[in-house]
Amino acid sequence: MAAAGALAVKTLEFEGKQKGWFWFRKWDLEDMSSICWFTGIHVLAACAPFVFDRGAIRLCVGFALLSAFGMTLGYHRLLCHRSFKIPKWLEYFFVYCGAHAFQGMRAVVIHHFAALASYVSHKWGERPWNTSDTSTNKWWVAVLTLGEGWHNNHHAFPRSARHGLE
Ligand SMILES: [Zn+2]
Ligand SMILES: [Zn+2]
Repeated sequence: MAAAGALAVKTLEFEGKQKGWFWFRKWDLEDMSSICWFTGIHVLAACAPFVFDRGAIRLCVGFALLSAFGMTLGYHRLLCHRSFKIPKWLEYFFVYCGAHAFQGMRAVVIHHFAALASYVSHKWGERPWNTSDTSTNKWWVAVLTLGEGWHNNHHAFPRSARHGLE
């Protein structure tokens, strides 16, 4: 998940675009699409209390968990880093779960946990490995993000299938 952010930064550097915060950037179609998408899902999330339903909450948590496993296990560790090998049908299953991460209410949950991992894990926490970046480990972020919070470990050993190396 964090790797996607790092890749985006590298891509922007490669394209030579000058990207700054809100007022300090030239808005292009991609920026406008992103702001419409993220504003849209947050407006829909704000409507959630008006249609509260316990069953829907349980379903959301279950699907969010399944999709989060698909993201971290399928997309990140398996496809991005090729950290381990599993049968092809299981590979398809995890990637299929991950592909649903941006659907319904779970999109909001997964987006915020992914953002949490990317942000906190480059700001606060322990650095058992002296990597050339600002990556850190934070146990409670790791709990919330199915292990992605062991981010310093991941930067030190990107291809390792184990999150908590220490
Ligand atoms: Zn990182
Ligand atoms: Zn990674």
